[in-house]
Amino acid sequence: MRKIIKRKEPTPLLIVLASYDPSGEGVDHFDPENPELLTDPTSPYYGEQWTTSDPMEVYERFFGENGASLTDYYKEMTCGNFWFYPAKIDHPQRLDMDKGVIKIAVPFPHPAALRNFKGFSNKSAAQKAIHDIVEMCELYIDFNQYDTDDDGRVTPDEFAIIILNAGYDHSTQRGDKSYEAPDYENAPDPRARFMVHGTSQHITVETRDGIHLTCFSNVGEHRRIDMKGMTIGTPAHELAHNLGAQDMYSRYTPPEDAEKRWPTPRRFSIMSSGNHSNGGNTPTYMDPYQRLLFDWAKAEEATEDGVYTLYSVRSGKNNILKIPTPNPDEYYLCEIRLKEGFEEFLTYDETKGGVVVWHIDEAINKKWFWKAQCVSSNRPNGERHDLGVAIKPRDGMEKILDENGNFVKFGPLYDDTDPKAIPFFYKSEDPKTAIFNSRDYCGAASHSYSLNSFPEGVSEKWNLCVEVLDEAGAEMKVKITRTED
Ligand SMILES: [Zn+2]
Repeated sequence: MRKIIKRKEPTPLLIVLASYDPSGEGVDHFDPENPELLTDPTSPYYGEQWTTSDPMEVYERFFGENGASLTDYYKEMTCGNFWFYPAKIDHPQRLDMDKGVIKIAVPFPHPAALRNFKGFSNKSAAQKAIHDIVEMCELYIDFNQYDTDDDGRVTPDEFAIIILNAGYDHSTQRGDKSYEAPDYENAPDPRARFMVHGTSQHITVETRDGIHLTCFSNVGEHRRIDMKGMTIGTPAHELAHNLGAQDMYSRYTPPEDAEKRWPTPRRFSIMSSGNHSNGGNTPTYMDPYQRLLFDWAKAEEATEDGVYTLYSVRSGKNNILKIPTPNPDEYYLCEIRLKEGFEEFLTYDETKGGVVVWHIDEAINKKWFWKAQCVSSNRPNGERHDLGVAIKPRDGMEKILDENGNFVKFGPLYDDTDPKAIPFFYKSEDPKTAIFNSRDYCGAASHSYSLNSFPEGVSEKWNLCVEVLDEAGAEMKVKITRTED
């Protein structure tokens, strides 16, 4: 899907707790004395795996009005523009719930076992599982009523589905090295060896009434053996994918080629590693580039130099300042990020947060955003490219010093020696905490300072100075000055 869905009203979400019951007997055959009954390919119960989640707990975690649910997360992050609410269950089920969560069992093995059968691959096993699970949802939901634009399709903004697969999620649970089995079949729990990796799947399922359902999120029901239950971080990330959000971490970089210090947005975007903030309990917001694409924050353009006022997300007036440069493809973004609400654990330093500066390069994004590689450290044509969405932290990048040890400028990569480096700009007793100069920062691949590429006639001394005039708070003024000498 090459489209961001800008929806201005909440969307119903169905959570499906899915068990795998290859024998179709509806009974759990796990026997601690004979755990191989579920893992021996010749057993009739091979690939059997039952959910162990309590549906009420799942409901609370996703939809509860407790300030910490998935619903609360989206309400906060989007300034009340968008959230997920529990879908109504139209046909009775055997749970004491009439909305939000259903529990089903499909008559075939878990996809990590199914893939080992003749004629199946990783991909086709995962797709069959998701397809058949969604198809079964028709027993509970009248999908016709959700085709709000009458196009014969129910898209994930009209009705969202997330499958919580019995067992652990591979993105947060590693295999048990002492248990000899291939990856994804080796979770450290004999009751649930098989794992899925959290994804968003763009497949189509046709209902009996001919309605086409598209795009579903798919995760394990448990985060880790020591942290049962799925925290909301990964589901929130996968559901954002359903709406068109793209990953902001280094995808498609072979491990031997990975540059661990590549300056991706990390915890400053839920589409990077922000979904794991505080163990996934309080995922951080999306990066400002994508919040603008979704229309969840107001853009304000700083065409003229001068003083502008920024408002935080929780102020309800969240705006993002867009600062043009002489290169029409490149601009800077300024936003307030405070360590409060879902972003309480945004960084490890002791500040309250402050202004964060980003550099955007639309020439890169045009090429790589929809391929989920706009910030990747891979080498698509034998070469790394600059990031299309690059955070410019006040501190935390490697420093280039002169012979006397004085700071000259930043290098292209993170300096990961200080986990408490402070990325925010704000007014304080130290005047240095208030000032951002673009000439101190370079593109990760081009090593070009201020701009990745200078149009003809533009001096390479071009500089954007952002001076923050206030201490960290819900409302902060910034003074914008662009110079060329
Ligand atoms: Zn992702």
